[in-house]
Amino acid sequence: MASHSALQIRDLGFRYKPDGNGPWTVRVRALELGAGEQALLAGPSGQGKSTLLYLIAGLLDPQQGRVLVHGEEIHALRGANRDRFRGRRIGMVFQTFHLLPGFSALQNVMAALMFSNVPGAEHRERAERLLRELGIDAPEVPVEELSVGQQQRVAVARALACDPALVLADEPTASLDPAARDAAMALLQGACRAHGAALLVVSHDTALAARFERELTLSTTSGQPDGAAPP
Ligand code: ADP
Repeated sequence: MASHSALQIRDLGFRYKPDGNGPWTVRVRALELGAGEQALLAGPSGQGKSTLLYLIAGLLDPQQGRVLVHGEEIHALRGANRDRFRGRRIGMVFQTFHLLPGFSALQNVMAALMFSNVPGAEHRERAERLLRELGIDAPEVPVEELSVGQQQRVAVARALACDPALVLADEPTASLDPAARDAAMALLQGACRAHGAALLVVSHDTALAARFERELTLSTTSGQPDGAAPP
């Protein structure tokens, strides 16, 4: 079977006011991430980086263009089908992690596995293994009792639980102090590499560029035909 690109975007256009004629919030002519490829999209706040991630994840619908994740047009899927597809193929790491409070690290990762094809009987062992791999040795502790750095590890474990084709990370190091940032990025990048997932990181922190072979930029100015720099 031909291997799919992790991500393909063509002629994507999105604005929050669908009937407006103002500038696009996100305009991306063409963007492709190969299987396992890692790229940074860096730029100032308000450029539409988070919005682009929501579009790729199918949490927002574009007014024009196509987004293929692992060869599947995500916006053609509706309702529960799209949610299931997202759960299986896309991992997400947010700035504030969005872990389920009151639940342990183990339960947080097992919750993500509910979307997978992995048989239920294997969920616990798989989640434990992933958390061990990411350096969490107290998987039963409620996540709010973990340090910020540990919560980030849990968020990475959760994102990779279903063996996604693509991990989307929105300012994944912004909650961490500078000393922890490099280690956190190394952890995220290393874990994605180990699991064969492509990684798209968006951040205002241009210093992260040194960690990536590929850097993308986004232009969202009204009338500009182009978006992200082509591969
Ligand atoms: P970035 O991630 O680069 O900081 P965002 O994607 O968060 O940029 O925001 C891009 C633009 O869209 C900003 O001007 C922001 O104010 C606007 N925006 C973001 N979310 C919404 C929303 N839910 N409704 C309307 N406008 C929004």
